[in-house]
Amino acid sequence: MAKTVIYKFGGASVKDAVAVRNLADILRNRLRKNMVIVISAMGKTTNGIENLISSKLANQDFYQNSTILKSQHLAICQELFAENHSIFSKVENLFIQLNHDLEKPLSPENYDEFYDRVICYGELLATHIVMEYLCSVDQIVVWKDARELIQTDSGFRFAKINWEQTKKKCESQLLPVLEQFPVVTQGFIGSDAKGRTTTLGREGSDFTAAILASSLNASSVTIWKDVPGILNADPKRFPNTQLFEELEYRQAAEMTYYGASVIHPKTIKPLANLGIPLFVKSFLNPGASGTKIFSEAKSHQIPTIILKEKQILVSFKVKDFTFIEESHIHAVYDQLQQLKLRVNMLQTSAISISIVIDVQLFKLEKLLSQLKPQFEIRYNEGLTLLTILHPNPTVIAEQVAGLEIFLEQSTRTTYQVVCRTD
Ligand code: ASP
Ligand code: MG
Repeated sequence: MAKTVIYKFGGASVKDAVAVRNLADILRNRLRKNMVIVISAMGKTTNGIENLISSKLANQDFYQNSTILKSQHLAICQELFAENHSIFSKVENLFIQLNHDLEKPLSPENYDEFYDRVICYGELLATHIVMEYLCSVDQIVVWKDARELIQTDSGFRFAKINWEQTKKKCESQLLPVLEQFPVVTQGFIGSDAKGRTTTLGREGSDFTAAILASSLNASSVTIWKDVPGILNADPKRFPNTQLFEELEYRQAAEMTYYGASVIHPKTIKPLANLGIPLFVKSFLNPGASGTKIFSEAKSHQIPTIILKEKQILVSFKVKDFTFIEESHIHAVYDQLQQLKLRVNMLQTSAISISIVIDVQLFKLEKLLSQLKPQFEIRYNEGLTLLTILHPNPTVIAEQVAGLEIFLEQSTRTTYQVVCRTD
């Protein structure tokens, strides 16, 4: 049997009717059995559902915005389907279920679980619409619920993959279908052993593509993006960017670690382990070669600029006149681990530990309250972490000019500052 190929289309590639038609055009000569098409929520739908959850949390009305979200999906369907197509009642039903789930009790204690149960509707809507559209233009695909394939632990919002179970499920439930048809499924979502919906972290659909590739030992993964491939800076913010035609897994992984949002950080490892090549290509120019990430790629020394926004700098200062020692670092990291917060940058001095973390609802408060007895804590929000890989003095000087700098760190291969950009 031919090996499976995985395609992944993100929110921008299904953001409206034109985009969905374009996706079908891309697939027209490429669609075949043994292909899995992973799709995320349309456009900004996930942010839209997050807003519904915030309204609910603040005891405000969420129905009105839920109706707006529904109208947006129905409007896309009106452009794609005949009036009497069954997709319209499907979308209506999914919104009835979404509202029903939003009506359930929500508190800071069950926030993460509630979030996952509700946020998955974005992906469910997108995959139903795309599947029905492809079938309507004679590109027959089968819809699969990713929650029956991707098994995770119960770490809601940042669930960890149960690789063994996932592989078993993919082999028993996906492979037999793939022998006959291409399959459309959702990115980002999975389920725990009890069948409760979990998610893999924001922008996690790329990771889903890698998980499926690894579980099926696929021959390649292609991520279709609105950029020509992987560039040495975000083309939406910097002029004169340079496209990497090829990248080593390691260099690609490093870029995603520092916040290059072109692919999700967890995507590379499962592919590198099995030597499965990853292509990043433009859905606006599907014939162009894009970037190929694989083990034999030539490594490069091109300065690469990465911005990670919405960062918080937290400094923990010892209260007595002791110096920072291992136990202090332990205490801080212990809490970070419990809150599933990753440190993006760390610096210690004689009397303080400074860490840079992402913004996450309730987590800063929890961190502060746990560590307040031990440390004097200060923090700054709304910062940006600027990383330059393979830096040179000219690039550094250009990038930091005029910035308000809070923390700076430099090694031979990496230069980083935490700053305020506005
Ligand atoms: N729809 C989800 C998000 O926006 C997952 C993804 O796009 O990969 O985070
Ligand atoms: Mg998305």
